[in-house]
Order: sequence, then C-alpha cells, then structure tokens
Amino acid sequence: MSYLNIDAQAQNTYDAIVIGSGISGGWAAKELTGKGLRTLVLERGRDVRHVTDYPTTNKQPWEFEHRNQLKQEVREANPIISKCYAFYEGTEQFFVKDAEHPYVQDKPFDWIRGYQVGGKSLMWARQTQRWSDFDFEGPARDGFAVDWPIRYADIAPWYSYVERFAGITGNKDGLATLPDGEFLPPHEWNCVEKHFQQKVAAKYKDRHVIMGRAAHLTQPQPIHFQQGRAQCQHRTICERGCPFGGYFSSNSSTIPWAAKTGKMTLRPHSVVHSIIYDEKKGRATGVRVIDANTKQMQEFYARIIFLNAAALNSNLVLLNSTSHRFPNGLGNDSGILGKYVAFHNYRAGISGEYDGNLDSTTDGRRPNSPYIPRFRNVLKQETNFLRGYASGFSAGRMSRSDQSGVGADLKESLLNPKLGGWYVGSHMMGETIPKETNYLALDPTLKDPFGIPQLKISIAYDDNDDKMVKDYQEQLTEMFTEAGFKNIRVRDSHAAPGLDIHEMGGVRMGKDPKTSMLNKWNQLHAVKNVFVTDGASMTSTSTQNPSLTYMALTARAADYAVKAMKKGLV
Ligand SMILES: Cc1cc2nc3c(=O)[nH]c(=O)nc-3n(C[C@H](O)[C@H](O)[C@H](O)COP(=O)(O)OP(=O)(O)OC[C@H]3O[C@@H](n4cnc5c(N)ncnc54)[C@H](O)[C@@H]3O)c2cc1C
Repeated sequence: MSYLNIDAQAQNTYDAIVIGSGISGGWAAKELTGKGLRTLVLERGRDVRHVTDYPTTNKQPWEFEHRNQLKQEVREANPIISKCYAFYEGTEQFFVKDAEHPYVQDKPFDWIRGYQVGGKSLMWARQTQRWSDFDFEGPARDGFAVDWPIRYADIAPWYSYVERFAGITGNKDGLATLPDGEFLPPHEWNCVEKHFQQKVAAKYKDRHVIMGRAAHLTQPQPIHFQQGRAQCQHRTICERGCPFGGYFSSNSSTIPWAAKTGKMTLRPHSVVHSIIYDEKKGRATGVRVIDANTKQMQEFYARIIFLNAAALNSNLVLLNSTSHRFPNGLGNDSGILGKYVAFHNYRAGISGEYDGNLDSTTDGRRPNSPYIPRFRNVLKQETNFLRGYASGFSAGRMSRSDQSGVGADLKESLLNPKLGGWYVGSHMMGETIPKETNYLALDPTLKDPFGIPQLKISIAYDDNDDKMVKDYQEQLTEMFTEAGFKNIRVRDSHAAPGLDIHEMGGVRMGKDPKTSMLNKWNQLHAVKNVFVTDGASMTSTSTQNPSLTYMALTARAADYAVKAMKKGLV
C-alpha cells in the first residue's frame, strides 16, 4: 500500500502550483513555466480555449435568439450578476450564476465573478493605467491603512515588462500622476472630446484629459504575432472573447504561452479547498482540491504556491486553510487576514449635451475612451475628504437609427440615421479607504455546493465616499459648464459596492508582520513559500484600474520566487 501512496504523491508533485488562471494566475503560469518550473495550474471552472470556445464571437444581432438581450427568467434568476453591464445574451456563458455560487451579504455587496480558464480576463474592460508614487505613498502621507513596502521604482520595470508582452495602447502624456508606459499607438479622439480636452487645459493647470491606456493591439509587434494574436479590429464586442486576440486575455496570451513551454499542467474543474501546511517542515506543502465533477478531494504538492483566485476568493482560501499552527487561517498571526478590504467608488456619473460641431460626426467604433487622471488632493490636502477620483469621459453623436425594423426600412435607417446633437458623459472612479471594519469572514454554518464555508462579505461605503461623490459632481459640472455643455445631469446610483469589480485587500502587503500579511515580494510573512499576487495583496486601492498592477506584481514575485528557490530560501 505504501508503495501506491508514494507513487500517487510523486505523480501529484510539481515545482509550483498556481491557484486560478485569470489575469494574475495566467501571468504566474507564464513566468514560472518560462523559468523552467513544472507548474500545475488549478482552475475551479471549465476550460475555455482561445477562439474555439467563444461561441458568440461572430454572431450578428439577429442570430441571437433574443437579439442579444437577457431573457426575463435569466435576469430574475440572477439578480446580482444581471447588474453587471457586460452580462448579456452574448456573454452569459462567462459569468457565474447566482444560485450556483452562494455567498453571504452581511452588508449588500454585488460580487461579479467569472469561473473558467481565463477568469475575468475574458470580460474585462481592458483599462490599464499605471499607478504612481502618489498612489504608493498615499497611506503613509494621509495616515490610513499601512505603508506600502514598495514604491513606483520597484514596480516600474515590471510594468514595462508586462506592457510589452500584453500590448498596451496609449499616449505618452508626461504626467507625474499617471506614469507613461511602453505604448502601442493611441486611439483617436473625436472632435467634441478634443474640444473638452482643450477647454479643460485652458482653465486648469492640474487637470488633464488624456486618451485611456488599454490592453489592445493597435499595432501588433513581433512578440504579439508570436502569441498568435493580431491587430484589434475595433469590433467592440470584446467580452464575448476575441478570435483575433486583439485584446489581452489569459486565454489568448499567457496561458497558451505557458502551455507552449511543455511545463504547464492545466487542471480545470479543480476547486481549491485549502493550502496544506506541514508543521514539522514549517512550510506549505501543497493544496487540497475538490474535483468539481466528482466532488472527490485530492491533494497536490509543490515547492511554491501562487495564490491567484482573485481578491475575495484568495482571502477565502487562506481563511479556510487552518491548522494547529494557524487556527485562524494560513499566515494569519496578525489577525488581519480578511480585513482592510477596499474597492473603487463608481457610484457617480454626469451627462450632458453639446450643440457645437454639428457639421461633424463619428465613424466606426473605438474600444477605449478618454480618461481624466486624479486631480484632487494630489500635492496637498485640499478637500474635506481623503484621496480623490479619476474619471472616464466620452462624447458621441446621438443617432436615431431604428435597428428594430426589417428589410429596406431597416437598411435605410442604418445607412442614413437621423443625427441628433452630441451627448457627453463621464463616470467616477474613486479611491476608497481600507478599514478594519470592511472585512471578510467564513460563515460559521453555511456551505457552498462543494462543502466549503461560504464567504461572508461585510463591506460598505462611508462618509468619505459620500463627500467624494458630491465633489465629483460639483467639479465635473464646473468642467462641463466650462466646455459649453448643456442639460447637465449628475447622478448617484447609490449602488452597493461590488460593481466596480475592483475589490482589493484582506491579505495586504506591508513592512511589519504584525500589521500585514505579505512582505514586499508578495510572500506570506509567516509561510515563505506561499505568494499572493492578486488584488488581495493590495495595501490601498489608488484610483486606477488595478489589473495591470496585479500583472506586474505577479511577474515580479515570480522572478523573486524562482531566484529564492534556487538559493534554497523557499
Ligand atoms: C466587466 C468587467 C470589466 C472590468 N474592467 C476592468 C478594467 O478596465 N481594468 C482593470 O484593471 N480591471 C477590470 N476588471 C477587473 C479585472 O477583470 C480583474 O481585476 C482581474 O480579472 C483580476 O485578476 P485575477 O487573476 O485576480 O482574477 P480573475 O481574473 O477573476 O481570475 C481568478 C480565477 O481564479 C479561479 N478561482 C477562484 N477560486 C478558485 C478556487 N478556490 N480554486 C481554483 N480556482 C479558483 C476563478 O475561477 C478565476 O478563473 C473588469 C472586470 C469585469 C468583469
């Protein structure tokens, strides 16, 4: 018998295990296999192969049973996921269904998830702005959370590294708040967006309207062709999966790249239950996995483990990894695991109309839009709330084409739409302050269909967020008025947290093991061979979309991990 067990153990042993195959897990897989490690990638969902598993990618609106709209019964059965703008008939297959993956909303929280190979990298909006020292120095300067153990200089080369491979479009704008990167040519502006940019530049020294930086191949380079990817076609139906690989996803880029090394074993339908800690060895030795099809528990072993299940699920895995040594979750000597979770404040928006430039209109589509980097409280504290917000912006010509008809009438209305004036709009992307009272825990009684405790989410907005919403509305109204926009309307959706899909923290990085879970290499202070490099590791949230930073942190940590392994340090 012992013979058989030894064989089984050897068969299930790898150099590295990566938990999750989304944006950050894909990078861990690529880097670790690229450095020669036999790597097991465990993914709870099904496999999604690039191109062949994008069933709706080439469908025309009339080819959908419901014209690409959600069926009423789907909407009613999925009240949470239906709130996500990207969930529709053409993308249903990439989002989890509410009833299948229950969690406890101690306070209202809309948890948006994609459980499959590629995770949310298939459906993301691809905005990829770097963080700056104004972000990494934020907690220390403004006295919240704990100081980041890294600064921009630590991560800058890794931003460049991941940008070159992923392919990021952008313009070199020379702004200290939003460092430039390794950009492919930028997307184009329309005349009203340019008009707004010029009006803002003329009135404010410290406010800028720039073109967003986004993970699209505007001009593919040899490294992208080597990945089998081609130029973005501006179809703007990205979240159905792109057969051109025109935008970055794990499925089109990092996962097939890792597979090509011959070093990766990808195991879909593998729900990681917990990480195994060996008290005698004083290290993690592997993971317990529940096979999603058979519901059988199995163990896999490795020298190092990368936890990339996305922020909240990585917290769950650690909280569920209990042992005599770590009764409150793996590496949780400080008691802060699951605490100081934060997110982005996307509650506010503004819209208006413009009656200039009526002799011009737009042609074609653009999978990106202009962006206003944070301008509040940057150099000094100037408002009654901490931190600030970035804003999206776009303008378009209102066109009244009636796409619901058939035959000649439909053709006529598509070819010669009745043009109205211009609409303009913006949405807020605010930084929230990580607080101990915004926390995650395991529900003591409720279990998910795999017998794993359900995650209890207790996260809410606070007074700082409300003040920021008000300021955004006032400042953007002033800027819109300055640009001559009319019929300006501000809104506050009062939506629960979650729909920003930028949840972060709970396993934060820091200098002191007493107040943080991870060191500057994303390594658990107390269990050195476990690395957490997704949103769970973030000490604060900045205002920028975070995924590019997860990619850079992951590549950086993988580089460190392999070097440390070779030196026998992990
Ligand atoms: C509609 C939409 C728009 C977005 N727009 C942007 C944007 O413009 N810019 C930006 O920066 N971010 C954006 N995001 C967020 C972005 O998608 C996430 O930040 C990013 O995917 C996080 O990467 P990750 O690797 O942490 O998680 P994911 O990509 O979610 O991958 C996690 C993977 O882990 C797997 N997993 C979870 N638990 C387990 C377990 N127990 N065992 C095994 N596997 C597990 C999941 O199935 C999943 O495949 C958007 C997201 C959505 C949905």
